[in-house]
Amino acid sequence: MAHVLILGGGFGGVVAAKALATTLGSEHRITLISRNHRFVFSPALVRLALGECEIDDISFDLREAMLSRRVQFLEAQVAPIDPYSHSVRTIHSTVEGDISYDYLIFALGRRLATELAPGFFEYAHHLLTPESAVKFGEAIRQFSSGHIVLGWCPQSRLALPVYETAFALSRYFEEKGNGQQIKLTIVSPEAVPATGIEGIPVAALQNALATRGIEFVPQFPIAQIERGNVISDDGRSLDYDLLMLVPPYKGAGAVVGTGLTDEDHYLRVDDHMRVSGVSGMYAAGDCVSLPGPKMGHMAVRQAEVAAQNIAAEINGSNPNAEYKHEIMLVIDTGDADAIFLRKNVGRGEPATVRQGHFWRWAKKIREMYFQHVHR
Ligand SMILES: Cc1cc2nc3c(=O)[nH]c(=O)nc-3n(C[C@H](O)[C@H](O)[C@H](O)COP(=O)(O)OP(=O)(O)OC[C@H]3O[C@@H](n4cnc5c(N)ncnc54)[C@H](O)[C@@H]3O)c2cc1C
Repeated sequence: MAHVLILGGGFGGVVAAKALATTLGSEHRITLISRNHRFVFSPALVRLALGECEIDDISFDLREAMLSRRVQFLEAQVAPIDPYSHSVRTIHSTVEGDISYDYLIFALGRRLATELAPGFFEYAHHLLTPESAVKFGEAIRQFSSGHIVLGWCPQSRLALPVYETAFALSRYFEEKGNGQQIKLTIVSPEAVPATGIEGIPVAALQNALATRGIEFVPQFPIAQIERGNVISDDGRSLDYDLLMLVPPYKGAGAVVGTGLTDEDHYLRVDDHMRVSGVSGMYAAGDCVSLPGPKMGHMAVRQAEVAAQNIAAEINGSNPNAEYKHEIMLVIDTGDADAIFLRKNVGRGEPATVRQGHFWRWAKKIREMYFQHVHR
């Protein structure tokens, strides 16, 4: 009998739990630990902010979902781990103590390193939790004229919601009839409107921004935020009336000091999603050290590979499922033509870019499919 412990109730953890529950025999135990019992479909947080859906439409209860697939769920905070002891300590829970495991899937996501952007907490809105999305939405509804600045900080590794928010706000104020009184600006540390992979300008994205009159300020690495101003690392200043930023990211705090991470605290993994330098530990999602943006579809694929390889190890076979690092995203511009981009990160081959109404529809269907299958 083996015990597989999964940390994190996000994309990576939920997908790994489902994959293991369907492949492992019932003699094996699977436990999922997360500090919150709700899974939230974060790509829909832009729509939540704009009041286009309710939190219940984009989230589900992990306790029920896991029960129905024989995974034990524990709502608890995971303390910094010692991966060599094959046990994890939980805190702030009814079950506080050490839980031992044979295999671990680490999927605790990333830490928001707001200390790298002084003033972020005081002055910036963000969209990384349902609560912050709702708060940003309230600020939008009270806003009738002025300058809205949206952007991402250096090391934030997530540009997509910034573009989607800009397009959604442009549409929102146009429909309200005060589009002329609102100026929308995107600030980016990158040189061109891209998608978090340096060196891939997307002409379709540039055109869509121009069509909507959204200003793009390139090479503006935010170093500080003050009331009414964002400041770049070379001292340039941009004024705002309303600000929404993606903060810098770092790897999950629970693995800091283990010696298993890169300098930004992301876990180093091999092609099989095994954490390098320790036995029995796999990782999936935003917490792993791979180049490019951090995205949910990557977490899903990584979790499937990790689960497949753990099942193989338990069944005495070689863990030979491999992960291919690929970015695939759909930017919903709100107009007829959504933008689809696919690129194998790390390889020299060009990105595939497509544009059309189909991709907007495909994104919605993917959201509904994910919620239906994993709920
Ligand atoms: C606004 C927005 C829009 C996005 N749009 C897209 C998109 O269109 N397409 C796309 O592919 N990706 C998108 N993403 C990115 C995607 O959401 C993330 O890449 C994905 O959530 C990563 O999954 P994960 O499982 O690694 O981490 P997470 O989803 O962050 O899950 C980590 C889990 O671990 C828990 N946890 C963390 N620390 C602890 C601890 N110490 N103890 C216990 N539990 C803990 C958390 O509560 C959480 O449940 C978007 C993200 C945002 C915020």
